[in-house]
Amino acid sequence: MLAAEPGAVLVAGGTDLLVKMKDGKARPPALISIDRATDMSAIQDTGRTVWVGAGCTHASISRSRVVAEKAPLLAAASAAVGSPQIRNRGTLGGNIATASPAGDTIPALIAMDARIVAEGLAGQRAIEAGRFFLGPGRSALGAGEIIVGAEIPCDGPSDVWAFRKLGQRQAMSISIASVAVHARLEGGVLSRVAVALGSVAPVVVRARRLEQALEGERVTAELLAQVCPMAREAASPITDIRGSRDYRLAMVEALAYQALYVAVWPDEVHEPRAKWAAEAGPSLDGVSGPCVRHGRGQLHRPEQPQPKTEPQTDAESEPASLKATTPGGDGDSIRVRVVFFGELAVRSPGGPMTVDLPRGSTVADLYRRVELADSSYVVALVNHRREFDDKVLSDGDEIALMHPVGGG
Ligand SMILES: Cc1cc2nc3c(=O)[nH]c(=O)nc-3n(C[C@H](O)[C@H](O)[C@H](O)COP(=O)(O)OP(=O)(O)OC[C@H]3O[C@@H](n4cnc5c(N)ncnc54)[C@H](O)[C@@H]3O)c2cc1C
Repeated sequence: MLAAEPGAVLVAGGTDLLVKMKDGKARPPALISIDRATDMSAIQDTGRTVWVGAGCTHASISRSRVVAEKAPLLAAASAAVGSPQIRNRGTLGGNIATASPAGDTIPALIAMDARIVAEGLAGQRAIEAGRFFLGPGRSALGAGEIIVGAEIPCDGPSDVWAFRKLGQRQAMSISIASVAVHARLEGGVLSRVAVALGSVAPVVVRARRLEQALEGERVTAELLAQVCPMAREAASPITDIRGSRDYRLAMVEALAYQALYVAVWPDEVHEPRAKWAAEAGPSLDGVSGPCVRHGRGQLHRPEQPQPKTEPQTDAESEPASLKATTPGGDGDSIRVRVVFFGELAVRSPGGPMTVDLPRGSTVADLYRRVELADSSYVVALVNHRREFDDKVLSDGDEIALMHPVGGG
């Protein structure tokens, strides 16, 4: 159809293209929708590589157990895209084809040495991700070709990775700068180091001198602090509405340090990646970890459930009506799991918590319990649905608390 219809443009999720059409920046004479080409949305472990079809949405990639195990850096990058709505529609193929230096999956694909597979009437060809992107909006994709997927080498047991993105907000935000790290760590020594920088040059670039400075070295926090300024050398950022050139340079150095640190010492930093590894399910719909941790007041964390024989240590500080009787799932009480996002996550460094409440408790009771009752800017998703304060909670509910984004 592409060959037969000159000027026709593919549309997958439409999250990039339709915005451009509404702004008058794209006026294609015809659209060819590929969003129901189900053979393009397969994710397969082929042994040495993982195949991720171009039609896979960011939501499906970030929730895929295969991707979480074999190419977790891509799962992290996909989970950092936009918002749940955008991740449910936007596809890997659309992200690649848009060829934006701010495209979140691109640094990940480049750092993982992925190959992008394109197909046209002349057949299929695979192009290294590092050679695919030629400029903002320009790629090696030929006329009449379609991206069918990406082939990613499977992570081995010694491979480490991290993705860090700084946007103007924690969600629904295009990167001001981003960094994807992929490397091998054996006996404390780094090898095959790849550090890809997004949003700081016309295309995603590798920080080659930084990579070389780490290659074969025993990694320490001091070494990282010493070499990460080299990330600036690879960057040639512009000043735009999202950030100045100087700000981007400073941030790309900071993000490179954070990403390398998290890759090497993942257990020291609480971030959503722990969730991808632990439970590749619907609750993976997270956002990129906070880039800077401000020293805000710590959120009061109710005690984790104690064995029945031990007294509740903080019982006096709880409103009498909310005292848990017997924790979890018995006749009088329910147990819910609470995850804090964005700013709220910064105030809750210990990650998701389990909260016991009397049966019949509502979202408003939960707000009181976690000392958020006075904030009018908190919303609750109960089992992924937006719920209001009078929603009665049930045993086992998963509750995400966050500030509303945009119009709420
Ligand atoms: C509010 C909002 C927030 C966003 N946030 C982010 C973000 O945080 N990070 C980020 O990276 N992006 C973000 N985006 C951009 C966008 O959502 C992603 O780039 C998404 O992956 C695009 O995929 P799509 O399927 O919607 O592409 P579409 O809009 O359908 O297509 C985009 C372009 O790719 C072409 N195309 C699509 N599929 C193929 C294919 N298989 N082969 C060849 N060409 C193809 C289309 O012809 C079109 O030119 C955001 C967009 C919006 C509207």
